[in-house]
Amino acid sequence: MVTAASNIVGLTSDQLATEARRRLERGAEAADAIYADALLEARYAPEDHGLGDLSSSAWRRAFEVRLPAIKTRVEEEHPAYPGSRTTKLVLATHDGLEMESVLIPMGPDKHTLCVSSQIGCKRACRFCETGRMGFLRDLSAAEIVGQVVLARSVIGASVTNIVFMGMGEALDNADAVLQALKVLNDKKGLSYSQQKITVCTVGNPEGLARLAELGWRRLNLSVSLNSAIDERRSALMPINRTFPLPVLQEALVTHPRRKGFVYAVNYCLMPGLNDGPDDAQAVAAFVAPLGRALVNVIPYNPGSQPLTRAPTEEEIDRFLAWLVEAGVAVRRRTTKGRSVMAACGQLGNVDLRRARRDARREAVDDA
Ligand code: SF4
Repeated sequence: MVTAASNIVGLTSDQLATEARRRLERGAEAADAIYADALLEARYAPEDHGLGDLSSSAWRRAFEVRLPAIKTRVEEEHPAYPGSRTTKLVLATHDGLEMESVLIPMGPDKHTLCVSSQIGCKRACRFCETGRMGFLRDLSAAEIVGQVVLARSVIGASVTNIVFMGMGEALDNADAVLQALKVLNDKKGLSYSQQKITVCTVGNPEGLARLAELGWRRLNLSVSLNSAIDERRSALMPINRTFPLPVLQEALVTHPRRKGFVYAVNYCLMPGLNDGPDDAQAVAAFVAPLGRALVNVIPYNPGSQPLTRAPTEEEIDRFLAWLVEAGVAVRRRTTKGRSVMAACGQLGNVDLRRARRDARREAVDDA
């Protein structure tokens, strides 16, 4: 039986070394050098590490470095940093689907990369373009890490921080996301510290329990709240019917975290849906038992079928003032990439689902 080549970007250096010893007769000692090439330079050249032809060929049969292909790249000038651009990358997967990642400038030559963890999403949040796609499939660890390697080594961006806020609910794909976290953190490769990575969830307590098992107390965690009133949150985010606010709150209160940890609580402000004084009071009551929390107020970004309009500056300021009055620490998030559908809630291609269904139908007809 021929075993398929393993994609190195989905492995930790220890996993690669172990696999190399198991699968290769000789040449496994080059594993660390080959690993660094792959993760830091998107390069795969076993012959550059003192291996003969036979060993190099054996490496190539057993392992590969496969990155997604760039399908489209759209950019928008960043208002705060002249010359910097928010860049949305639409990446083609091996099975004809797409995933998206967004490079967000955070200062001169500094970027946060927002990565996808799934193609589509089953959580169906009403304000989210990805939610409208439905769920197509989970991404593998190699596909998640591949977005980072590509942004750094192919696009040439300096990626200082990584956030799991692209397409998908990261904790619904816990196996691959936990593996990707270990690869991103690997000292012999990309070496991102826990503090440079943020996992965002809409509140999946089972996923939070899996994350807790990892024991990474310095990893940043952010929660997509969007309403702290059960009825309103359920109307916006169906997950709230399964895990209502008291369940989510309890999961966050008991989640193990370092001293001084600050929860990031994301609140997408949607005029007429969650922007009243009672909404602000409810947010204050929700975050009070969490210890330290910072509420990020994000102006709603209308997608292809808008739920409402974007809030005005006055509406945003008014809501922020209500929160501050209620004793909540707040930050207003700047909208980046709205014109290129790269802002929060705007990622996804609703046509993909239809395209895949049509392709399957054609395959059946041809059979
Ligand atoms: S907001 Fe997140 S969890 Fe909700 S549908 Fe969009 S991608 Fe899924």
